[in-house]
Amino acid sequence: MLKIGSHMDMKAPDYLLGAIQKTIENEATALMVYTGAPQNTVRKSVSTFHIPEAHSLMQEAGIPLENMIIHAPYIINLANTEKKETYDLAVQVLRSEIERTSQMGAKYLVLHPGSCLKATREDGIASITKGLNEVIQKDCPVTVLLETMAGKGSEIGREFQELAKIISLVNYPEHIGICMDTCHMHDAGYDMHDFDGVLEEFEKYISLDRVKVIHVNDSKNVQGAHKDRHANIGNGEIGFEALCKIVHHERLQEVVKILETPYINDLAPYKAEIAMLRQKEYHSEWLEEL
Ligand code: FE
Ligand code: FE
Ligand code: ZN
Repeated sequence: MLKIGSHMDMKAPDYLLGAIQKTIENEATALMVYTGAPQNTVRKSVSTFHIPEAHSLMQEAGIPLENMIIHAPYIINLANTEKKETYDLAVQVLRSEIERTSQMGAKYLVLHPGSCLKATREDGIASITKGLNEVIQKDCPVTVLLETMAGKGSEIGREFQELAKIISLVNYPEHIGICMDTCHMHDAGYDMHDFDGVLEEFEKYISLDRVKVIHVNDSKNVQGAHKDRHANIGNGEIGFEALCKIVHHERLQEVVKILETPYINDLAPYKAEIAMLRQKEYHSEWLEEL
């Protein structure tokens, strides 16, 4: 069974239950949520999320708990060596997000590795490693997935080597995995039209079984642009055919695919995009109809 879904809003009053209902409506088999606004650390107690009801609905719909992915807020920057308060906040928020992920019954937490600002990339990587080691203990119930990044500004994770370096330096690599993002890899310079070539490059540094999630997004910019602007499936520089190949890649069958494409006319495009990817047929009119 294809494990595919999208980013889902968690809105009052139904929160996780509402996100699951919408996932089922979209005929999706997976989802990703932020446990609050992605840009800040204001968080409501998970006890308001209707978790037991959400879990029973997932079970009814045949959506396993591992297909529910949590994304940590963007403001976590473990690579900040310039401001101690920012690094300390990152450690504190990451610790709480891991706890919340586990309370929600989820296994995977996606994390942007961070930006090293004016420091060297090596120092940024060392700082990320230190932060992960402060938070992730032997019995950590969650796997933290480092996301491949576009390389905007001083983002760490634009090259597979950097992520491999972090994995090689942490105390408990068994609790670390990878989230690939097709838009980010394309913007970082990888050729998504030769995905087998990209996998070959990846496997020089990291075992493919570390990859648990793929963010499936088209890109508004050319390969190597280091921009990170997502486009709807088939409406960007990667294109429908290449993305469809990735979604159906035989070596990635167990990997959860999550769309993070932009809204069209204030409406989520996910149901249409998921249907197109499932059917392996591009229908521009389905997006135009939104
Ligand atoms: Fe992300
Ligand atoms: Fe992403
Ligand atoms: Zn992005």
